[in-house]
Amino acid sequence: MKRLAPAQPCPCGGVSASHTASKASKPLSYGQCCGRWLEADAIHGPFAPDAHYLMRSRYSAFVLEREDYLRATWQVGHRPATIEFDPGVKWLGLEVRDFRSTGADTAEVEFVARQKPPGGPAVRLHERSRFVLEGGRWLYLDGTQF
Ligand SMILES: [Zn+2]
Repeated sequence: MKRLAPAQPCPCGGVSASHTASKASKPLSYGQCCGRWLEADAIHGPFAPDAHYLMRSRYSAFVLEREDYLRATWQVGHRPATIEFDPGVKWLGLEVRDFRSTGADTAEVEFVARQKPPGGPAVRLHERSRFVLEGGRWLYLDGTQF
């Protein structure tokens, strides 16, 4: 497990929403972005308010090797017994391509995550993930990889 100070840039690459063309969006700090959910109380939250925020926070959780958070945000019927982190892997970034509601309590997020294994070339993980809202919390179900 790796620790990140709140002022450091968020691993997911989140930026502040910019509503004016003249103003460039600014990178968000971990404390302003995924840290809001990763460092929250495991029982009382706050929790990621939609599947898009949850997707970003789970990417950051992989970067920070936060097995506790990944397990807590994995729907119990789909949660693996153990979560393996590849030693030495370098996460290069996340690009969210699509986020859509597919029902009252289901949503999908399509993303591309890039990582570089030690000694190898960078690889892309392109997935359409499915999420479900259960008991007021968004949870990861599963995904289709491209
Ligand atoms: Zn983030």
